[in-house]
Amino acid sequence: MPTLCRLFRAARATGLLVCLLPLNQALHAAATPGPDEFNNCLAQIRVQAAKAGVSAPVVEASLEGIEPDTTVLDAMAHQPEFRTPIWDYLAGLVDEQRVTDGRSRLQEWAAVLTAAEEKFGVDRHTIVAVWGVESDFGRLLGTRPLVRSLATVSCAGSRQRFFRGELIATLKIIESGDFSPSALVGSWAGAFGQTQFMPSTFLRIAVDFDGDGRRDIVGSVPDALGSTAHYLKRAGWVKDAPWGYEVKLPPGYNGPSGRRHKQSLAQWSALGIQRIDGRPLDGPASAGLLLPAGGGGPAFIVFRNFDAIYAYNAAESYALAIAHLADRLRGGRGFVTAWPTDDRGLSRIERKEVQERLLERGYDIGTADGMIGPKTRAAIREFMGTRGIATEGRAGGRLLDALRSTNRPAGTPR
Ligand code: CA
Repeated sequence: MPTLCRLFRAARATGLLVCLLPLNQALHAAATPGPDEFNNCLAQIRVQAAKAGVSAPVVEASLEGIEPDTTVLDAMAHQPEFRTPIWDYLAGLVDEQRVTDGRSRLQEWAAVLTAAEEKFGVDRHTIVAVWGVESDFGRLLGTRPLVRSLATVSCAGSRQRFFRGELIATLKIIESGDFSPSALVGSWAGAFGQTQFMPSTFLRIAVDFDGDGRRDIVGSVPDALGSTAHYLKRAGWVKDAPWGYEVKLPPGYNGPSGRRHKQSLAQWSALGIQRIDGRPLDGPASAGLLLPAGGGGPAFIVFRNFDAIYAYNAAESYALAIAHLADRLRGGRGFVTAWPTDDRGLSRIERKEVQERLLERGYDIGTADGMIGPKTRAAIREFMGTRGIATEGRAGGRLLDALRSTNRPAGTPR
């Protein structure tokens, strides 16, 4: 999962940070505060926490002996080497494995999902899709102690005010008894649990959906699913309405587009836009036209419920991943229109295969974990370079084909 950056624009629900920084926007790790500076900062936070009503024993027990975590500052500053194309992003988030996993979760948690649909009016496939993308159905929750991470970014870097608010929210969570400090682990930015809520979002939105008296989005699947449904309802989800669907543009379309450029379906129809199978547009009165790759790729009419999903993480690519996964979970297929590329994106299993084949060739990329990080990209650049192909290190279908076709027996030179 990419870890970065949308957070800097909007403090939304979650820590699934979609990386779309421009190439020229260099970021440097904030300087680690020295002991005096850090202690002064913590003293201010103690005052702020007391004003916010957190009891002194909770503040002391939580902040006692805390030191800044420089790896958090590195993670905050990490700069992606290139923009992730939408087809790579979707190929990794909505792959066959995720669809299979999601369908089994739909069965396993059917009773809870029925209850969530009844209480919040939010469709079960969308709830499960969010769960799958946020934490791989509870498998990836993050491992960093929340208080230490948030204390670090509360005292260094450019978003200290925002993160202090999240740290105070974390202390309030501890005060409430929903979690002990040691149980609160998550992303460097403080997102935690199966829903990857930020602490302030947890306080506003999380629900005790299994009725045991605790709001436990870490250990309780019902609480996580109920809390996700509650979030989407609060974000304006319309019961029994679609998020949108794929459409066909007339050749050479250069009319209006955009999620926020809402107009009536009659207006979109008058521009020559049809459902992908040629039927006329139908659904809620007001819609936007989403062109994630410009006019040359798949196009979508999107309704209010797409905006509700967008609210979860403030990125259109994220919302499309959730919406598409939800469609796949209810039995739908992939998009009809191809992405404008001849070098397809890879599933998580294929990304792992890329790494295993690079390791076989002796490239030092650590372990094959399916995450394409700087080391893997460097190895890809080098490998493709030996074949006379200059790349930025992207892992796509062409690379995988090349690795498969030229596999090297062990012990021979690269
Ligand atoms: Ca509970």
